[in-house]
Amino acid sequence: MTAALELRHFIGGEWVGQPEVESRNPFDDSVVAVVASGTAATVADAVAAAQAAQPAWEALPAPKRGAILLDAADLLRSRQRAVAEDLVREEGKTLAEAMGEVRRAIDVFRFFGSLGWRASGDVFPSNTPDTMVYTRREPLGVVGLVTPWNFPIAIPAWKLAPALISGNTVVLKPAELTPRSVHNLASVLAEAGLPDGVLNIVNGKGSVVGEALAAHPDVAAISFTGSTKVGEHIRGVVQGRRGRVQLEMGGKNALVVLDDADPDVAAAVAAAGGFGLTGQACTATSRVIATGGIHDAFVDALAKVAATIVPGDGLADGAMMGPVVSDAQLATDLAALEKARADGNLIGGESDGRLLRPAVVTGLPADHSVVTDEVFGPLIAVLPTTDLDAAIEAVNSSAYGLAAGICTTNLASAQHFAARAHAGVIKVNRPTAGLDLNVPFGGVKASSTNTFREQGEAALEFYTWSKTVYLGHDR
Ligand code: NAP
Ligand code: MG
Repeated sequence: MTAALELRHFIGGEWVGQPEVESRNPFDDSVVAVVASGTAATVADAVAAAQAAQPAWEALPAPKRGAILLDAADLLRSRQRAVAEDLVREEGKTLAEAMGEVRRAIDVFRFFGSLGWRASGDVFPSNTPDTMVYTRREPLGVVGLVTPWNFPIAIPAWKLAPALISGNTVVLKPAELTPRSVHNLASVLAEAGLPDGVLNIVNGKGSVVGEALAAHPDVAAISFTGSTKVGEHIRGVVQGRRGRVQLEMGGKNALVVLDDADPDVAAAVAAAGGFGLTGQACTATSRVIATGGIHDAFVDALAKVAATIVPGDGLADGAMMGPVVSDAQLATDLAALEKARADGNLIGGESDGRLLRPAVVTGLPADHSVVTDEVFGPLIAVLPTTDLDAAIEAVNSSAYGLAAGICTTNLASAQHFAARAHAGVIKVNRPTAGLDLNVPFGGVKASSTNTFREQGEAALEFYTWSKTVYLGHDR
């Protein structure tokens, strides 16, 4: 166990500010860090540092920018275990989950680092003789990143890497609950030779630091991941000053289970999607819509899996599920469980402080709040349906549209579903949660701005603008 670390802001290459706010381990309440809490003035300093550093960063050849990301990835790999343990201590997920998440950050840095070697524009034929037309992708300038606590290193990494490789400088506001993972990310970038001011971090409250960042006139764009409520507020602030904004927000992700599926296989898919990461994933399965012939067998199989999952300390050997991240999130989970118990048939869901047993609820009406609202906990509502088309209608009745899944052995049913489900990510016979890093990611409806995608090469579009050059050469 490492001592509580003092965490400062990172501005212009200096660690600054007075650590004052305690960050605690959700498993045992031990203090894991004491953190500086920024103000609008701290944000202004960070934006000024980012602005000062931007022209030189943009002028550095892209392969050299990429080399810094690649070296940072190597450093992160060399301390993967320690960084993962820090992540468990501040967020609570299991060490296996945290090792996977840190691995994701490493791979994201490698992917975007190597993109530094790729040409970034297109060449076109011109209608005018002796003229070449090509496009350049220009950086936006200073970009602001606002990130949630549930993937405290992977989400910052998947925003930072495309921002930096494109020649932008960054001000990042980590979630107040999980500042240490971003501190570790900044440390490896600084050690890898990232020039001062290219990445700046301001810790503190969203309502203060996030708000000031979104409102700052010199921040060209904001990429935000978090709740729909906060995201929609930020959209108003940033668009009000004609900034560019990308929001990835909540979900109420459904898994359809058809009669032709194997109930045990479908239960394993649902449990991985719904109970993994303590249900605290934006793409978590929180609704299952099962056709009549499999519904009861599926519920039995899912309840059996749920009963085997024992929550505990994420750092303990063989930990299966970590604690709920905070008392505020626990209150949300317990309120949903209470409603599920009152209005339906609840299986599981017992709590011992922040340790929550996974839960399955049946018998709720389709318009019940547990079926329609994001909970962000290990609770799956199962609803019966008649056939595939009715199931698709139920999937699409949600205000959200992030991920949707189907368990079926029928290819035609799978393709019918993939074409008609209104969600940004479709999973066939795979858990709704869990993404590849090299492919576009994002949602529709209340889950996303649904303009720019994150991850893969698609992520570069948000962090750049396109310029068209006509190059004539008369002789
Ligand atoms: P959140 O409460 O919306 O917070 C997200 C970030 O916004 C935090 O850094 C927060 O700061 C900050 N913030 C809060 N108020 C702000 C304001 N007025 N202006 C600017 N920034 C502000 O979300 P969360 O509780 O951390 O995370 C859970 C949510 O994230 C869930 O809804 C989940 O579905 C969503 N999520 C979505 C995705 C996706 O890709 N679609 C991925 C993961 C999570 P604080 O430190 O003060 O909280
Ligand atoms: Mg929050």
